[in-house]
Amino acid sequence: MKNPLSQRGTGAFTLVEFLCVVAILGVLSLAVLAVLWRNPVSTPANSTSSPANSSAPKIPPQNFAAVASQINHLLSAPASSAVTATNPNPASAFDDFSSWVKLFTNSSASLVEGERLAWKRREAMLDLIQNDPKKAIELSVSFKLRQTLPPQITKFFEQQVDGRGDFLLAVGTDFSSGNTTTYRQVQLGGNNYEAFVYGRRRSQVSQTAIPLHGIVLDGKIAVAAEPLRALSVAEAVALDKNALKPDVICSVSGAAANSRGQPVYAESGGGVMVFCGTDHFDLVNQQWAAAEGNVSAVSSANSQAVATTANDNWTHGRKNVLYMRVNFPDDLTEPISEAAAYATMNGVNSFYTEGSYDLT
Ligand SMILES: [Zn+2]
Repeated sequence: MKNPLSQRGTGAFTLVEFLCVVAILGVLSLAVLAVLWRNPVSTPANSTSSPANSSAPKIPPQNFAAVASQINHLLSAPASSAVTATNPNPASAFDDFSSWVKLFTNSSASLVEGERLAWKRREAMLDLIQNDPKKAIELSVSFKLRQTLPPQITKFFEQQVDGRGDFLLAVGTDFSSGNTTTYRQVQLGGNNYEAFVYGRRRSQVSQTAIPLHGIVLDGKIAVAAEPLRALSVAEAVALDKNALKPDVICSVSGAAANSRGQPVYAESGGGVMVFCGTDHFDLVNQQWAAAEGNVSAVSSANSQAVATTANDNWTHGRKNVLYMRVNFPDDLTEPISEAAAYATMNGVNSFYTEGSYDLT
């Protein structure tokens, strides 16, 4: 059979085909133009409306609200709470509850009164998590109280959560009004929480699989600034039976955790770490924070230098570089002369000095 392509060899066919193609293309392009003319504003209108709606950043709060309402349904206030819900001084809710706990441990307080005060404390805590997360964490209930108080009371407590999770930041700007809103979310242990932060986490960008600690209430989490959470001995043992074994070693020094008689236990985002002293606990805390990109906030000792933004120390200032000129036993020729190496690194130095406006 003849190759069909060979038919194109004859000039007449080629010209006819070419004219046909031109005609078809012309009709198609006219049709496209007609469609575009029919509603010419539709595409620009869509593109201008989307930033004003800022639909993307609005999704997280809807999720948060859904989570929060689900949890709200799980917990119901005791009958008397409607009367006592309006409390002008939230701090007193914590004090009142602490006073009750003291009475209760002396077995001279009523459980009903405890439930009422625990609910008031819960309301105050929910407010604190959103407005002063640092204080909220400071006032969170101790491990010991969680263990000793009856479930009718502890069901009103915030939850302590630890683990490796995702810290997500979304910034939405309404360009028409100039308002910028920041949403933070933490995904931890299969749950999504609306996150409230302080300290270095205020300038932290989205990061995945980092150690996170915090207290949770109603789908809202107050996130601790530090990557490690110090534990009491009882809590360390509850989390990891092996924490107190005599052969446990310090994660920093490799010496026995009890070698200085002051072991420190910490939750490290899904496991218990043991240190031989608070200095080594602090060291790891600072290094892990630095690894997340925020050096200065946790370690105040390092916060000399530049006053521009919170976390410049990692990139600014004098940096030392080790330049190794290597040769091999079977090839002793110099890869680069000392003078040439210095010349290269002087060039590198000029590049960084100029590019950083003399800051690095
Ligand atoms: Zn140590």
